[in-house]
Formats: sequence, structure tokens, C-alpha cells
Amino acid sequence: MPNCWPRAIVHIDGDCFFVACEVAKNPKLKGQPVVVGADRGIACAMSYEAKALGVTRGMPVGWIRKICPNTIILPEDPTSYTLYSRRMYEIVRRYTPEVEEYSIDECFADITGMHRVLHKPYIEIAREIQQTLKSELGLDFSVGLSVNKVLAKIASKKQKPNGFTVIDWPNISDHLQTTTIQSLWGIGSQTARQMFKLGIKTAYDLASKPPAEIFKSFTKPHQEIWHELQGKFIFLLNTKSQPNKSSISKTKTFGATSSDQHFVYSALSANIEGACSKLRKSKLLTGKVSIFLKTQQFEYSHLDFVLPWPTTNPKDILDICHQRFAEVFSKEKKYRATGVTLSDLKPINTETLNLFGEAIRKENNKIIYRHVDLLDHRFGANTIFLASSLSAIKYQKMKDKTSSLKNFLSNKKRHLGLLSLGRVN
Ligand SMILES: [Mg+2]
Repeated sequence: MPNCWPRAIVHIDGDCFFVACEVAKNPKLKGQPVVVGADRGIACAMSYEAKALGVTRGMPVGWIRKICPNTIILPEDPTSYTLYSRRMYEIVRRYTPEVEEYSIDECFADITGMHRVLHKPYIEIAREIQQTLKSELGLDFSVGLSVNKVLAKIASKKQKPNGFTVIDWPNISDHLQTTTIQSLWGIGSQTARQMFKLGIKTAYDLASKPPAEIFKSFTKPHQEIWHELQGKFIFLLNTKSQPNKSSISKTKTFGATSSDQHFVYSALSANIEGACSKLRKSKLLTGKVSIFLKTQQFEYSHLDFVLPWPTTNPKDILDICHQRFAEVFSKEKKYRATGVTLSDLKPINTETLNLFGEAIRKENNKIIYRHVDLLDHRFGANTIFLASSLSAIKYQKMKDKTSSLKNFLSNKKRHLGLLSLGRVN
């Protein structure tokens, strides 16, 4: 038998990833039949509970409502899914720099040699990656460990969801016998049909074919799969990181145009609070801000700035906006929308503390916003907000006809202003 672990490759695959992200954002969805795809009109992803009720991928939303009226159908939230994905890669890179970002919810990691660095066997490292992903992201991942990419991918599929499977030398053939040829990574339906005709029904059947027959009947990619099924390491990891395009945006169009500086600033403030709330849900910090105002004539004025420190706190952003608002606002113009984009996003645990007492201030803000987020989660968005957002939120509530301002202030006593930034002059 050759060296048991000539290479140690881990394949990590999110279970029902889009729905799992929705449940992580809103734990009340846990255990419920949840479908993502309200905006497309078809099911793009569904929870195991929804699958058990008969919901399948691509099923029209109208049907789902008829056959499973209790199903919760949500729109896609690609920004959140991308952010969870980035955090997944970040966590895996703590264990090895050799990570291939294969898809939004899948990656390969080459941990060869890391048993010496981390002082633990490969199986333990792979287990720890899975446990860290679960504890930090709140998502289930199925993990496979083997000697190459094809076998690691077979392994991760074996025990979904939340599975952990090791395919090492002694048990390769056992696993190949229970892997159908059509489920093998890299084998399309046409090739599977061709292989069926040759009597190849499982991965084991393919691996058992003599090399002459493989080279005669199949092209190079399939020959390479055959090599990997033998336990050879053929497919290298593409460890080039995908370009970071992630950002969080929040935009709001007014019901009627406005040249009221106080109102326009308030709308911007509400957008910034909303974007920061998304940021905290995704456990990310922003380092760069771009705001815009859109006029009645669809002209845009922009203001971009880099923050002095990465933050999730809207006040850090509003302090700068307040000082520089006159650069984008003109009293002569009527405005129809404002928006903000937060970029240069990084995981919250990369936050660095500076030397001027920021550590204490940040810690206080973290406590405040932990409670703000809890109240928002319990009572709905904008339960507590900055006084600078008051006009816009008040207007929105009236526009939605959910309540008059009087009822809003008297019935919803939870409506509090945390901090007044004053009028913008
Ligand atoms: Mg997946």
C-alpha cells in the first residue's frame, strides 16, 4: 500500500446553502418549510422540510402556494449569500492557504503537510474546519476528505446534510461501488449514457476498466477522472482568489420629490442605518462608503470616502456625511432618491484597535447595537433608529399607510431616537 496520504484534499459543500443563509439571518425560520425564489417565480432553493412536502427545484411559486400553503417563500438575497461565501473561504484559509473557491458554497482545500504545522491528523483538521464553519456561520456543510479532488467530492456527497466522510486507501473501492456513474463529478448525462452502454454503471466499474480501453473510448478529461479514481492526484487546485466585488447597498426613492435638505439627509441616514444593519447581520465591517443623491432630472451627485477605521456603526459614517453633505446637496434642485454603497468589506474578527481609545468606544457601540439588532429582530425593522433618520422613517411609515404619525408615536412606544445629529445647514 502506498503512503496513506500522498495528498490530503478536503471538499467542503454547503447544505441547502441559500436557505441556510436565510435561516442564519432569521433563526425563526429554522425547522420550517422555506423556499427561496419569490422574485423569480420559481423555487431556486428549498429547505429539507420543503423538500419533504414535495417542493422541487424549478417548481412555480404559485404551485407551491397551492400544494404547501404553509411554505415560507422568500426572495433571493445574493448580497448575503456572497458574504457568507466569502466568510466560508476566510475560515478555510485559516487552515491552509491552498484553497480553491469552486462555487458560492463549495471549495477545495489542500491540507497536505498541515498535520505537522497544526500538530493534528488530517481527519481532525477536516473535522475542525467543519465545526468552525458551523459555529461561526451557523450553517451546515458536508465535508469529504480524500487524496484528490474527485474522491474528496465523492466523499462530501456521501452523507448529506452535515456529513463527514473520509475516503482513504483501504476503503476507496467500497465507496466507488456505491457511487453511480451519473453522479460522478465531471460525467455529463451523455457520457453517462455512453458508459452505460459499455457496462459502466458505477465509479468502481470505471476505475476497474483497463487503461487501454479507457484511452481508446474516452477523451482526456475522462481519462483524468479515471486516474483520480485510482487514487492519483491529477487535478490541481486553482487557488487564485476570486476578485472581491462584494458590497452592500441600500437605496430609497421618495414618493414625491423634495428640496428639503433635512428630509433628504434623513433619507440618506435611514439608508445608511439599513445598510449597516445588513452589515452586522453578515458579521462584516466596511472600510469604504459611497453615497449618492438623485435629482428629479435623474442627475446624480456622488460622495466617496474611506473610513478612518473599519466599522458597522452608522454614526461613524454619518459623522463624515454630516460634515460633507453640502458637497452633494443643492437647495436649487429637487431630489427623488438617495442611496449608499458600503464596500471594502472584511470579516468582523479582522477588526484592529487603534491607540486612541477607539477600543473602548467601539466596545460600547457594539453593546448598543447588539441590543438595537435584538429589538429590531423581535419587533421589526426600525424599532430603534438614529434621530437623524426620523423624518424619512416617519414619512415612510405614513406612506405605507400602516399608521398615522400620531398612532406611530403613541401606539409604538418602542419608537425612540438614540442620537440627534441635528439639522444640516
Ligand atoms: Mg451545496
